[in-house]
Parts: sequence; structure tokens; C-alpha cells
Amino acid sequence: LADRLEQAWKKVRGQDKISESNVKDALREVRRALLEADVNLQVVKDFVAEVEQNALGAEVIAGVRPDQQFIEIVYNELVKVMGDANVPLAEAETAPTIVLMAGLQGTGKTTATAKLALHLRKEDKKALLVATDVYRPAAIDQLIALGKQINIPVFDMGKDADPVEIARQGVEKARADGFDVVIVDTAGRLQIDESMMGELKRIKDTIEPHETLLVVDAMTGQEAANLTRTFHEQIGVTGAILTKMDGDTRGGAALSVRRISGQPIKFIGIGEKVDALQPFYPDRMASRILGMGDVLTLVEKAREEVDMAEAEKMQEKILSAKFDFSDFLKQTRLLKNMGSLGGVMKLIPGMGKMVNEEQLAKGEEQLKKAEAMIGSMTVEERKNPDLLANSPSRRKRIAKGSGHSDKEVSELVTNFQRMRSLMQQMGSGQMGFPGMGPMG
Ligand code: GDP
Ligand code: MG
Repeated sequence: LADRLEQAWKKVRGQDKISESNVKDALREVRRALLEADVNLQVVKDFVAEVEQNALGAEVIAGVRPDQQFIEIVYNELVKVMGDANVPLAEAETAPTIVLMAGLQGTGKTTATAKLALHLRKEDKKALLVATDVYRPAAIDQLIALGKQINIPVFDMGKDADPVEIARQGVEKARADGFDVVIVDTAGRLQIDESMMGELKRIKDTIEPHETLLVVDAMTGQEAANLTRTFHEQIGVTGAILTKMDGDTRGGAALSVRRISGQPIKFIGIGEKVDALQPFYPDRMASRILGMGDVLTLVEKAREEVDMAEAEKMQEKILSAKFDFSDFLKQTRLLKNMGSLGGVMKLIPGMGKMVNEEQLAKGEEQLKKAEAMIGSMTVEERKNPDLLANSPSRRKRIAKGSGHSDKEVSELVTNFQRMRSLMQQMGSGQMGFPGMGPMG
């Protein structure tokens, strides 16, 4: 009842849905948070405008204010923009997978080359490193030293050779010697310049990499956007590594890089040591960029409570014999949200031991089938399962619509009726399950 009152009150005040006026301050806060995290200004503007458009009209859940709900929407959108899940390194159909490293000087390309090789070894992949930075004194030695440190071979031709030729022969060697991956380190410049881009392009055209990784220093801030645009337009990148995330930046460059190139960030560098490389996880990065963890926790808690309220309503229905196919469907989805059927069963005292793995797998299979069949029922039929018990033609229609047999539909109806009466008996305590009094 308290919930209902709250919702009614929200409605009166216009707080039940997200509107331009009730998230005005939140918008400003989000914008500020993103800018503080070093997301490029234009990226912030576009992103925030998009999120606002999508969020308008969204319903506000109980126990939460519109601005809080809005923050959650922003967070979800951030995770989505950054790709939802981690994207692993590309893998060639026939080895070796060729990886080209690109980026400005000092961003951490050479370090990342070694880090990546070490990371790949953990996946049992053998990598060859190729040193093509003939410009900076000691750049080749730097890669050789890193290679020694982790016992990974480095191919080089000294500092008088042509970088394109080094790359070509390096890849050749990796192929001949059966390496799984070959990583070509390249020379950067302090700023984007044509000779660097020209050379990168020639190397790329020569070795035809499966993966061209742009290495971006997370501290680059606003500039990360332009940098990414230029590299992507001129040589085409397939992914990025964001380095120096161990610094105090919130990592907004991640959003800029992703938005502008459309390519995933695959790893982050979190230190100078060779093992300081981690896969990139969009959800973690979204939290870090946005901050506002407190609000997110609050909304999450409120959501859990809404789920609880839903579960309680369901229980009432079961006990009052009003449980129908729609409820069954909802229940099934609820189960799915909670994890596997097996996981839920284990929570019920005594149940875990009564059901084995095989039965559980079968149960999940059946739930899926049931979902399909219920999907083909009319609203009326869902409300009143007896309609189906008495009408073969209705059952036939549902069978056709859902791609299952008449027999399977009949079974569903019978099982459903049996289950419903069983649940009512359990609910009213007529069945003596040990340790399971009336539910609730
Ligand atoms: P390159 O010019 O792009 O090849 O950059 P380097 O690999 O030579 O790295 C430049 C500097 O950045 C070196 O001092 C590295 O130790 C340092 N560095 C690279 N990656 C990271 C990182 O993830 N965190 C920190 N703190 N330093 C890094
Ligand atoms: Mg280097």
C-alpha cells in the first residue's frame, strides 16, 4: 500500500516518469562528471543528448527519484556504448595472427607489445616481437631488453634497416617458425605527422595485420578524440589499448576512443611492469568514468525490492488459485533472472537432494518449450487454462504457432493444472513437506 501511495504521489508531482524538467540538474551533474573524467567535450555533448532523448518518458521505480533513475540509465548507456562485454584479441584462421601496434611516442606501445606477449603466453600462445622503431636511439634495445626479461624472442635488423622491410621479414619469420602471434612494434612521434602515418600505412599494407591496435595514453584527456579520429581515418584501427590507467585519470579517453573509432578497447595498461595489463571491461570502466557509485547502488537496491514485491504478489496469487499462464510466464522469467533453475532449486530446503542434474537440465528445456507455447496463446487463454483443456482446436492452433506438437500442448495444460493444484495444497499446508510450512 505504501508503494501505491508513493506512486500516486509521484504521479501528482510529475515525478513518476523522467521528464526534461525533473532531470535538469542530474544532466548537468552527468555532464560535469564526464568532463572531469576527461571525456572529449563534443563526445560528452552528443552522448548526453542521446541518453536524454532515450530516457525521456521512462518510468521511475518505487523508492527512487527521477534524477537517480536517470543516473542509472546513463550508466547502462555508457556500458552499452563501450561494448557491453570484453572483446578479445582477433585470431587468424591460420597462424600467425598479425598484430600491428600504432600510436604516438611515449604512449606505451613498446611496453604494451611486451605485455601483450606475456598475456598471450598465459593462453599458451607463442608470440614473436618485431622491432621497427629505428629512429629513437635505444628503442630497439628497449624491446630486446623487455623480451629478455620475459623470455620472448624479438626480431630486429638493426637501426639502419627500413621499417617496412623489418616488419615484412619479421612476419615471414613468425610464419616460418610456427609462431601463434607476431606483434609489430612501431615508431611513434610526439605529434601526428605525415611521415609517421605514411610509414605506418606502408607497414600495414605490407603485412596485412588481423589487428591494428591504437595505443592511447589515458592521461591524454581531451586530445584522445582527435588523435583517434586521425589514426582511424588514415590507417584504420581495429581496437585500442588504453595505457597508464594506474594514474589518477578516471579514464574518459575510453569513451572518446570508442565513440569516435567505433572500435573496442581491448586492454588497459595499469603500470610500468610487464604484467600490468588487463582485459578491458566496459562495466568497470563505466563506473570509473561516471563515478556516482552511491546512486547506482541505491537504484539497484530499489530494483531488488521491486522484484521482491513482485514475488510476493505472485505468492498471493498462487494461494488464491488465480495463478494463470501469464503468471507462469512471469514466474519463469523471474527464475531466469535469478539464474538457473538448478540454482533456485538448491535454495529450497530439501529440494536440492530430490532432483539430480539431468532432471534439472530437462526441466530447463521444458521451461523453454513452455515459454514458446504460452507465447502463442491469446490473452484469454492465458488467463483461463481450462479453455484449453476443453478445446482441441485451440490446442492445435497453439501447437502450430509455437512449432510444437499437439501432444506437447496437451501435456503443458495437464501439467499446469496439476502443478497449480499441487501448489495450492502446498500453500495451504495440506502437504507435509518437512520444514516447509505455508509459504511466506
Ligand atoms: P612508446 O614510445 O609508445 O613505445 O612508449 P613506451 O612503451 O616506451 O613507454 C613510455 C613510458 O611509459 C615508459 O616509461 C613506460 O614505462 C611507461 N608506461 C607504459 N605503459 C604504462 C602504464 O600502463 N602505466 C604506467 N604508469 N606507465 C606506463
Ligand atoms: Mg616504443
